[in-house]
Amino acid sequence: MKTRLQSVRKRIEEAAKACGRNPESVRLIAVSKTIGTIHVREAIEAGVTILGENYIQEARTKIKDLSTYPVSWHFVGHLQSNKAKYAVRLFDLIHSVDSIKLARELNKQSKKINKVQDILIQVNIGEESAKSGALAQDTKKLFQDVSNLDNLALKGFMTMPPFFDNPEKVRPFFAALRELRDRLNQQHLTNVTLNELSMGMTGDFEAAIEEGATLVRIGTAIFGARK
Ligand SMILES: *Cc1c(COP(=O)(O)O)cnc(C)c1O
Repeated sequence: MKTRLQSVRKRIEEAAKACGRNPESVRLIAVSKTIGTIHVREAIEAGVTILGENYIQEARTKIKDLSTYPVSWHFVGHLQSNKAKYAVRLFDLIHSVDSIKLARELNKQSKKINKVQDILIQVNIGEESAKSGALAQDTKKLFQDVSNLDNLALKGFMTMPPFFDNPEKVRPFFAALRELRDRLNQQHLTNVTLNELSMGMTGDFEAAIEEGATLVRIGTAIFGARK
């Protein structure tokens, strides 16, 4: 685990340096879905500070078991509105907001616990019917609607691009998300600047970093293949 983590960190650093970025502008999220508490603890003790989870029920147990560690938990999976109540109690950043309905529910639940919840808008940049995420053309409206919700703080965008073996084929989708973010920032729709780009997984994180990723979500390269 420690060796794999070190190797991932080194690759992140090299990819950032190769394109003239500060390696510290890229944060590593260790995606621990389906990985048992023992191995997640091992990762934390090896230096992981942000964990990513996809399922509320599973995350709840792990977060409770590992509550003595000063780590941050992010929700990266698809979120149903009826789970919003749990999500705002468990997670520092929710990557997968893709509808105004979900945003309103997260806002309502955050208000109840006096929290301003950090979120990202998930964009279905490849327009795949089987994937969640807002379409690029609907993102501006969603961004504007979300900006009116006092208990949500929008930080940027996340995407799960189409799958290809070759990261060079994924690169245009990463670039498209960055361009979308930059376009929306240039329009000054609100007084916040959206910095975060959550993109890049085990097979393609170097290309994502070269295209501007600030959060990379890596599971397999750290924990090994999932069962
Ligand atoms: C599982 C998952 C990852 C990590 O994928 P790997 O290929 O194992 O690195 C990243 N993001 C999301 C949303 C995931 O569901």
